[in-house]
Amino acid sequence: MRGNVFAHPAKLSIAKNRSILLTVPPLATTIIPFTMKKQFRVTIDRKLCKQCSLCVNFCPKKNLSFKDGELVFEGECSGCMLCVRYCPDWGIRVEEK
Ligand code: SF4
Ligand code: SF4
Repeated sequence: MRGNVFAHPAKLSIAKNRSILLTVPPLATTIIPFTMKKQFRVTIDRKLCKQCSLCVNFCPKKNLSFKDGELVFEGECSGCMLCVRYCPDWGIRVEEK
């Protein structure tokens, strides 16, 4: 007898339900990252900062800017560390709260 065993309607429905179960993430994997979202503290060392603007340009969240000639942090830091990595003067620090 020829034919695919999965061609049987009952087996097709089981296969379909299993694939739905595999594609829908468990509730825990969607809720836990949301509730455990990390928060970061950004500190600027004004003695070390040479105001080169590299961190301002690299921050993907646009958290850093100059106000009255001083580098300031405003917004929500994602902790990507790009500002820390590209600062040539160790003028910025990012720590988990
Ligand atoms: S760690 Fe990333 S998001 Fe946070 S201030 Fe630096 S560049 Fe911006
Ligand atoms: S990259 Fe460093 S030196 Fe340049 S503005 Fe940012 S903190 Fe200051």
